[in-house]
Amino acid sequence: MIMDMNTNSPTRVKIMRSLLTISVTAAILATIFTLFTPLGITYGLTGGVGEIFSPPSAFEADPFLPTPTPSPRPTIGIVVGHWGYPDDDVGATCPDGLTELNVNLDIATRTQAILQQEGFNVDLLREYDERLEGYKAVALVSIHADSCLPLGNEASGFKVAYALATARPDKANRLVSCIYSRYSETTGMPFHAGITPDMTSYHGFEEIHSETAAAIIETGFLFNDRQILTQQPDLLALGIANGVLCYIRNEDASLPDTNQP
Ligand SMILES: [Zn+2]
Repeated sequence: MIMDMNTNSPTRVKIMRSLLTISVTAAILATIFTLFTPLGITYGLTGGVGEIFSPPSAFEADPFLPTPTPSPRPTIGIVVGHWGYPDDDVGATCPDGLTELNVNLDIATRTQAILQQEGFNVDLLREYDERLEGYKAVALVSIHADSCLPLGNEASGFKVAYALATARPDKANRLVSCIYSRYSETTGMPFHAGITPDMTSYHGFEEIHSETAAAIIETGFLFNDRQILTQQPDLLALGIANGVLCYIRNEDASLPDTNQP
């Protein structure tokens, strides 16, 4: 059936009236909703309908209202130890083919995912990444793992250090303390005393921006800690992420200077 739209029948007038009522209601509702701001403040609603319909220019120009621009997400850098290009350095290796690079990349990727979930912009960087030159971030962590040689029962646990060349030892030491405390709590792994010159003179930290707090972690020994390194990478990643968050959120991690061997 086709309705004749050219007639002015009572039905058509009725329909037009209904449509007009709907339009006016919609206009009022739309106006009311636009009066709500992201701050949760409503304007003009106490003054009756007349005020609602007045143009909102009076408060649009208010210089005391913040502009709702999204703030940039802070950046965290994660260096995957021995992740190179184009060289084939894989770090420590085990007789069966497990490499430190396998372990580092796995843990680093999971750490990145956790910190992204927390709302940060997280860069996964190669060992000699060109982005490290003047690198600016709220924190930078280089992830490594220790030897796969059978060095006895002592060769177990994790190490955390900052580069002695750092321009901000205060920041770096707090980051180290935070990672030390949270990694230890989260994973239950023991701290392995014995920071090597390799860690404290770590090359990657000399190029970065002087305000970037940086630390290096040896997540465990490939030989004695192989099980947790390969079976529970999520837990280890959580330990590192918790450490970084502890630093960023200024949480308590009152520990002695962990750079001391
Ligand atoms: Zn390494």
